[in-house]
Amino acid sequence: MTGDLTILANKATEIAANDFKRIDDICTFCTKKVLDAFNAERVSEAHLKGSTGYGYTDVGRDALDRVFARAFECEDALVRPQFVSGTHVLTVALFGMLRTGDKMLSITGSPYDTLYDVIGINEGVGSLKEYGIDYAEVDFKDGNFDNDAIASALSDKSIKLVFIQKSKGYLDRKTLSSKEIGDITAFVKGVRPDVYVMVDNCYGEFCEKHEPVYYGVDLMVGSLIKNAGGGYAKTGAYIAGTKECVERCSFRLTCPGIGRESAATGAYLADFYQGFFMAPHTVAQALKTASFASALFESMGYDVNPRPNSERYDIIQTVACKTPEKLIKFCEGIQAGAPIDSFVTPVPYAMPGYSDEVIMAAGAFVSGASIELSADGPIRPPYLAFLQGGLTYESGKLGVLCAAQKILELGE
Ligand SMILES: *Cc1c(COP(=O)(O)O)cnc(C)c1O
Repeated sequence: MTGDLTILANKATEIAANDFKRIDDICTFCTKKVLDAFNAERVSEAHLKGSTGYGYTDVGRDALDRVFARAFECEDALVRPQFVSGTHVLTVALFGMLRTGDKMLSITGSPYDTLYDVIGINEGVGSLKEYGIDYAEVDFKDGNFDNDAIASALSDKSIKLVFIQKSKGYLDRKTLSSKEIGDITAFVKGVRPDVYVMVDNCYGEFCEKHEPVYYGVDLMVGSLIKNAGGGYAKTGAYIAGTKECVERCSFRLTCPGIGRESAATGAYLADFYQGFFMAPHTVAQALKTASFASALFESMGYDVNPRPNSERYDIIQTVACKTPEKLIKFCEGIQAGAPIDSFVTPVPYAMPGYSDEVIMAAGAFVSGASIELSADGPIRPPYLAFLQGGLTYESGKLGVLCAAQKILELGE
């Protein structure tokens, strides 16, 4: 580390420390919710074993569903290794909730890229559209919900589900707090009490004291190789919300009539339990890493979002790298700071569904897990690096410093 970077790093550590009390408070609060849920469900060693075959009477699986529901403060949940990814669990939930002739309305503008094929914006085979389920979206207006446009869109009676993405994902927009999501949900239900409100909660879990379902949304979904798996889960995802919604989704996950009764958990359950127990802490490590990166890169003259000392509602930190070279160096640094594949050099490449080349840095114990330190960005102005994760603050900080070092070595 150069002398300059050492001074900047010390200053950034001090600035970030102002965030740490808030992050620790939330972590303690959420840890208590999780621990209380374990205790209330009397989780024991027998619950960690898992099942084979049809997985009937899998007591560990069924108790874990209730642990999630309690900790998320909602009626019911479905936690399964059979969900292959965040995109898959979103797909299951959408197909579970919608029927031919229905329409889905996104009120947070464009959804996550991988949902384009699911919805049928890209004319995907097997899409909602192919099943006669329509889609519309209302964009943010001046960075906030466009209530007027939402109300007028809702006059279309075929709308059965309102979709909200909590995290900014890979867009340059704000991430929503659970409370904001609750407020807009109340507004939506005021206009149309008969619609379901669903939240894509990926990257959001345990960043705040309460999740969107606590504030009245009908269901939310998230991936276990992000926040809710705590870095331990090797695969899987969850759906949480009202009994009715979770049941509808369970019939889509397996089969009508079978629903949640069948699904072997194999060797996954122990990691799911331990990961969920760790999740508030792991998320806090990622938030601290993001907070440090925000302070460091702002002091180096870069635009960052969120700025230091702001409340955070997801684990994503963006840094506007200004030039393609710097974005590439940023990602090279994150890669070099990883425990796995640190010797690999990430390069920009064309990805299906993206108009610009994308560069990604990740060296994770769980393949593709973005609760572990990772960075990616499309090669287009303002050359935003999306940074997230960090299993430990210490390793996250070292990775971020590695990125800063690489950028400084470029010179101006
Ligand atoms: C990661 C993510 C998804 C998709 O999850 P995958 O596991 O990558 O399929 C969807 N929405 C948001 C907001 C995400 O962060």
